[in-house]
Amino acid sequence: MIQIYIPLNFLGVVYREIKQNLTDLDKMFTLMDREQEIADAPDAQPLELPRAPTVRFEDVHFAYEPARPILQGLSFEIPAGRTVAVVGPSGAGKSTLGRLLFRFYDVQAGRITVDGQDIRGVTQQSLRRAIGIVPQDTVLFNDTVAYNIAYGRPEATQAEVEQAARAAHIHDFIAAQPKGYETMVGERGLKLSGGEKQRVAIARTLLKNPPILIFDEATSALDSANERAIQAELRAVAQGKTTLVIAHRLSTVVDAHEILVMDAGRIVERGTHAALLAAGGRYAQMWALQRHGGAQPAS
Ligand code: ATP
Repeated sequence: MIQIYIPLNFLGVVYREIKQNLTDLDKMFTLMDREQEIADAPDAQPLELPRAPTVRFEDVHFAYEPARPILQGLSFEIPAGRTVAVVGPSGAGKSTLGRLLFRFYDVQAGRITVDGQDIRGVTQQSLRRAIGIVPQDTVLFNDTVAYNIAYGRPEATQAEVEQAARAAHIHDFIAAQPKGYETMVGERGLKLSGGEKQRVAIARTLLKNPPILIFDEATSALDSANERAIQAELRAVAQGKTTLVIAHRLSTVVDAHEILVMDAGRIVERGTHAALLAAGGRYAQMWALQRHGGAQPAS
């Protein structure tokens, strides 16, 4: 009994960890032969997406545990092909928005729609295919760099993998390894830095080429040259896609179509960078503080 309990318990922990990190879980569910918490509706249809869609959160309420509401009636829209950024203090519920859009959890009230289709009414496979995630901490598989990049689209050719790696500015680093794209990475292979892992995630997302993107910005600061380069790459990837940016640094959000300032599960301010600065409220305070703190925001 003990022998069975320990590994299952361990897998549970790993599962929760990865779920928190918004990683694609399909393969892991297969490996674990574990039933998903979120099931397709019996009449679920594939999500129909002719192009970058409009994503809408409508009066969304959500709690991980019933006694502790996290999102308390949130409404916003990401127009087709635009970027909406979410900022706010730690624990405000920012990353939860991404988890709900990817449908790791279902909302308790309200709804989330993609081009008017409630995400609870479409197949999870089609929803998750339509969304690319660059998570806070990219989980790499104990496999080759090529496998890790191609994970978003396993049928991709080597030339396509390299093209994505070049666009994510990780090709030269990979090519410099003795085994190149066949270099093993992950726990038992080459250890990559935070910035390198993010670049692998960007390359993976470029290859997958989904119409919807979620960027959950890393909390750990990269050095500023690296950070600027990654921001430029993310901007290029987001071009023409419907993008949700969960931002920990304000420098990432300046160009967003709309910035949502969240606190304790509510939107307390919203607008463009210029409008929010002019309003002189929470966002303007955060901006001044970040400047004062020396984390030079791009302007
Ligand atoms: P940060 O900027 O620190 O990443 P955040 O604004 O993204 O924070 P969330 O990760 O969305 O915050 O979490 C919102 C709240 O929900 C936090 O109080 C967190 O402790 C709680 N929470 C997150 N995941 C779970 C979970 N799986 N079970 C229970 N509570 C959770």
